[in-house]
Amino acid sequence: MNEFSLIEEFFADCTQKREDVVLAVGDDCALMTVPSGCELAVSMDTLVVGVHFTAEADPAALGHKALAVGLSDLAAMGAEPAWATLALTLPEVDRAWLVEFTQGLSRLARSYGVQLVGGDTTRGPLAVTMQLHGFVPRGKALRRDGARPGDGIYVTGTLGDSGLALRARLEGLPLSQETLCCVEHRLDWPQPRVREALAIRPFAHAAIDISDGLAADLGHILKGSGVGAAVEVEALPLSESLRASVELDQAWALALTAGDDYELCVTVPAKYRDRIRAVLSALDCPCALIGTIEEEPGFRCRRQNGASFIPQQQGYRHF
Ligand code: ADP
Ligand code: MG
Repeated sequence: MNEFSLIEEFFADCTQKREDVVLAVGDDCALMTVPSGCELAVSMDTLVVGVHFTAEADPAALGHKALAVGLSDLAAMGAEPAWATLALTLPEVDRAWLVEFTQGLSRLARSYGVQLVGGDTTRGPLAVTMQLHGFVPRGKALRRDGARPGDGIYVTGTLGDSGLALRARLEGLPLSQETLCCVEHRLDWPQPRVREALAIRPFAHAAIDISDGLAADLGHILKGSGVGAAVEVEALPLSESLRASVELDQAWALALTAGDDYELCVTVPAKYRDRIRAVLSALDCPCALIGTIEEEPGFRCRRQNGASFIPQQQGYRHF
């Protein structure tokens, strides 16, 4: 099987067709139309074997996750997903693997109306690079530089579950079967907060998705906005699975520093306190107010009693 028949068989038609795509897979470039009045939001992420996943990883989960992390970036900008391009490096052509990979990818793509419009296929150590394209009305993107003193800091869902799954997998941390199942699902099948992000876009000053740990990612907002933050650890949203598995201070540390949560962290002015809760609860999305943006730069993490809490680990860094 050559690379052209591989592309034709697995990727040319694996997602739904969109009206704004003039020309998709098969020519030198794909051609698409951006709606007038919108900016184009573009993000790219790479998953590499041995770094982000192992060679034995479930190919369906890999196809899902490669797209999910890009959708999460679009969500963090308040952008509506539209198109994807995929650069795939494969050690060999394994049909069974490709069938599952494209199934994981197409299922998620269809559920968000995303069309795969092009890509590149090469031979080498397994790596998946996904580029996502979405739309955001001009000037309305949720940037990292928009946070203002007095904003509430909100987090969707729960934090630290993927970090717990990773520790179980890499360090052999013993977990009950039920807990392992819950947290591995969070790690392998992340659900990007796309609808939630679009609903909160009118009310938020700044947003980021939590991929490298809350402390690191909120840190990007603080730096970008030239502000600081006070966060109360007791307010961090923790799942029952996490609470039941480790000591509370370890759970807080995981929630603050472990990656792969793909939840949203948003800063919202005080006047929209109720709106933010209302729009998220309408989507059945848990939301926690964890702290406040302050003028004084720095990330201050405190216990309810005022003592500072300093987690041991740091967010994941490649270099
Ligand atoms: P070129 O030599 O012009 O770069 P390629 O052989 O790389 O062309 O790709 C042929 C066509 O197939 C292009 O339209 C490209 O976008 C598409 N394509 C290649 N690999 C993939 C992939 N993994 N998924 C989707 N489309 C792909
Ligand atoms: Mg090419």
